Formats: sequence, C-alpha cells, structure tokens
Amino acid sequence: MSTYSASRAPVFAGPAAWSAILPDQPAPVAADGKLYADFIIIGGGFAGLSAARRIRQLEPKANVVVLEAGRIAEGAAGRNSGFMIDLPHEIQTANYAGHGTNSDRDQIDLNRQAIRFAGENVETYDIDRNFFDPAGKVNGAASSKADALNRSYGDHLAQMGERSEYLDSKAMTALTGSTHYFSGLYTPGTVMIQPAGYIRGLAEGLRREGVRIFENSPAARIERTGGSWTVSGKGYSVGAGKAILANNGHLESFGFARQRLMHIFLYASMTVDLGNEALKKLGGQPRWGITPSDPMGTTMRRIDGPLGGNRIITRTCASFLPGMEPSERELRRTARVHQQKFADRFPALRDVRQEFTWAGHLCLSRNGVAVMKKLDDGLFAGCVQNGLGTVRGTMTGMGAAELACGFESDITRHFLAEAEPSRLPPPPFSTIGANLYLRWKEWRVASE
Ligand SMILES: Cc1cc2nc3c(=O)[nH]c(=O)nc-3n(C[C@H](O)[C@H](O)[C@H](O)COP(=O)(O)OP(=O)(O)OC[C@H]3O[C@@H](n4cnc5c(N)ncnc54)[C@H](O)[C@@H]3O)c2cc1C
Repeated sequence: MSTYSASRAPVFAGPAAWSAILPDQPAPVAADGKLYADFIIIGGGFAGLSAARRIRQLEPKANVVVLEAGRIAEGAAGRNSGFMIDLPHEIQTANYAGHGTNSDRDQIDLNRQAIRFAGENVETYDIDRNFFDPAGKVNGAASSKADALNRSYGDHLAQMGERSEYLDSKAMTALTGSTHYFSGLYTPGTVMIQPAGYIRGLAEGLRREGVRIFENSPAARIERTGGSWTVSGKGYSVGAGKAILANNGHLESFGFARQRLMHIFLYASMTVDLGNEALKKLGGQPRWGITPSDPMGTTMRRIDGPLGGNRIITRTCASFLPGMEPSERELRRTARVHQQKFADRFPALRDVRQEFTWAGHLCLSRNGVAVMKKLDDGLFAGCVQNGLGTVRGTMTGMGAAELACGFESDITRHFLAEAEPSRLPPPPFSTIGANLYLRWKEWRVASE
C-alpha cells in the first residue's frame, strides 16, 4: 500500500491581480463527502486543467475530478505576466537561448503544439479572444550591453530560421510611450494572455462538459488501496482508478523529487486603472509586452479595458524559498522596487498608485527538466515547469493525461527521455547562496 501525505498546502501572498480585475467568479464549490471518478487531478492551474481537457479529448466519457487548493486562477495561474512564449526561454542562461539549435528547434515545436492546444480551447469553449491575443512580444534592452544580448539572441533565432525584428529606440518609444529603452527585439509567435481570464474560461468550459472542479479543496493524502487511488482532504475523499499530480512545486510537498526542486517566488505589481489624463501623458500603444533582454531584469506589460482596465504591470525581484512561503516584508520591499522601476520608465506617471502587489510560485530544476512521468502504478505527474510555465504547464498537463490514458506522443516521448532534476546543495547553503545570487543579479541588471 503506497501513501503520500502533503507536508504543506499552498500559501498565497498578495492578491491574484489578474483575477481581481475581472468580474467576480461564481461561489466556490468545495469537495464534500465520498466521491468517485475515473481520473482525479490535483491542481487547477495550466497543467491540471490542460490534463482534464486532454483526458476528455482522449476518453470523452471519462469521469474527471479536479481538486484545487484555492480558487481557480488565484494560484500562479492568476499571478504570472501572461506571456505564452513559443521560443526558447531559458531563464537560467544569459540571453534565453537554450541548449543548442537542435534541442531549441524541438522545444519550439513542442511549445507551439501547446499554444495551439490552448488556442483550440479558446475556440471550443468560446473564451473571450481578448484573453488570448497572438500579438507577439518584445525583448527590451535598456543599455548597449543588453542590446548586445538581444542581437546575439536574434542571431541564434535566425540560425534556426525564426523571424525577429529589431526595433530602435524611437520605435520602442512609439510602442511604449517610454524613452527608457535603447532597443527591442520583436518576435511574433508569443500569445499574450489574460492568464486568469484564460484559466477561468477553460475551467468554465470543462465544467459545462461535466468535469467536476472543486475549489478550496487542498489534497492532503494520496493512498493506494487495492487497484485504485483515494485522494482525501478535510471533509472529503475521492476514489479514482488514476491520479495526476499537477501541483507544480507542491509535488515536493508530497515527498517527490525531494532536494531537487528550486522554489522561486517572483513578485509583481499592477497599477490602478489609468484615467484619461495619465493615458494622455503616457502615449504609446494600448497593449504591449516587454520581457527584459537579461532574464533577471524587469518585465513590463500594458493592458487595456477588455482585459480588466488600462493598467501597467511591473514584474521583477525573486527569492528562493524552500519553505514555499513568501513574507509580508519581502512583498513590501518588492513593492518599493516596482514603484521605482515603473517611475524610471514612466517619469510622468511617477505618482500613479500600484493597486496590487503579489508573489507567485515558480518551480525550477537546476538542469531545466520537468517531472512529467509515472510516479507509481496509476499515479502520474505533470509538474516543474521552469521559466515558461504557461506553455510548459499546458504541455506537461497534456503529457500526464496522455500517459494516464496510455497514449504515446511527441510530448510524452520528450519528457520521458529527460533526466531527473539534479540534486541541490544541502540547506542552508542552497538557500543562502541562491538568495545572494538572486539579489546580486537583481542589482547587476539594474536598469534592465
Ligand atoms: C510573477 C510571475 C510571473 C510569471 N510570468 C510568466 C509568464 O509571463 N509566462 C509564463 O509562461 N510563465 C510565467 N510564470 C510562471 C507560471 O505562472 C507558472 O509556471 C505556471 O502557473 C505553472 O503552471 P502549473 O499549472 O504547473 O502550476 P500552478 O499554476 O502553480 O498550478 C498548480 C495549482 O496546484 C494547486 N495545488 C498545490 N498543492 C495542492 C494540493 N495539495 N491540493 C490541491 N491543489 C493544490 C495550487 O493552488 C495551484 O493553483 C510567472 C510566474 C510568476 C509568479
């Protein structure tokens, strides 16, 4: 008999702003009593909901239950910056280029497959098209050094036959209204999502098809008895033939991949809805997304009314937190950094208030691999998304569903061929070292 107990449940710091700026969701329904399903999925983010969708594609009559610890779109799914990027996006390298042209080519093909799957979900479930905008994105450079990184990334893309367009400082000002940027590299394949809007739409579509999605229902224990799994939490248990862990870094909370996962928290702030006066001062285009040319720099994004208001989102700062619990103190520190980065880019708007500041969980492995595999008989994982979790989460969710249904594909072959996440140095060295490194990187990339 196998039993896996959760050592902790997710802790959310600050509001999930992308969800907060949308109309309220219907009241949550928590799991209650004794339930049965064919498949049970733990986690209702990109991976969990994609797994549910993929199971229903492969086995349309399957009875599927999803358990989400919090509300839908209030975990990392409602806390990210909404870049669904098709290209290599290795945040542990200097310029996002991955591990060589061939492996990057494969990665691009898989990323595009996941983005197409998400696009089909938008069509099938009639999700607001504003929440899934194939607008592309720009890698912004604020110095000649960063400009060089952009150029080397552009060369790497050209070698793979991928299109990009160099934007000079004038073009960057016309786009953003800011004179901060030295240059930019536009790449067309990124889909800019309203992440909470997309995830909520996906959950609603699945519910309409009969998938039962329970919120505020953290899974505490997974137990195998006879030929099936029972997942239980406060006041409920669900029995199922097969179970999928789609809870990203909280995979480790159930005892898997111990000492092999890096729990990074990223921080972001979102302004109030900008009034006419601020919009006039700002200029530029109503929607854009800028990733920094140095992966440790600052991501900026502007959105407009249909996405939840005319707002600017600033994402920067990171901490390594093996306990998976960001502190209020760090939230306050990062809020000050965000206000400063925002003012550096938009001095005319320096008094504009940041309405929301939040932290969100990102799970990385040192060697950049995911955990998408069979963990035990009938128990599967679609976890550890590294830096590009909207795409990777979608992909590992699809893959875990395929494994659970006994279906082989490019996705399952790709992840099953990956190595295990490599081991981390023991604490406290890993924690102190990683945090010093992150703060040093934060300081070094200053204006980026
Ligand atoms: C500030 C920020 C910016 C980011 N920007 C981007 C970006 O622009 N592009 C990009 O691709 N990625 C980005 N990411 C990363 C991305 O958000 C994540 O990698 C992605 O959400 C991972 O998807 P997932 O479904 O695997 O995990 P999650 O979205 O974390 O979903 C897992 C779910 O499992 C639930 N869960 C955990 N334990 C349990 C349990 N015991 N029982 C039930 N439920 C449980 C959690 O509540 C959570 O909702 C960003 C992240 C942050 C924090």
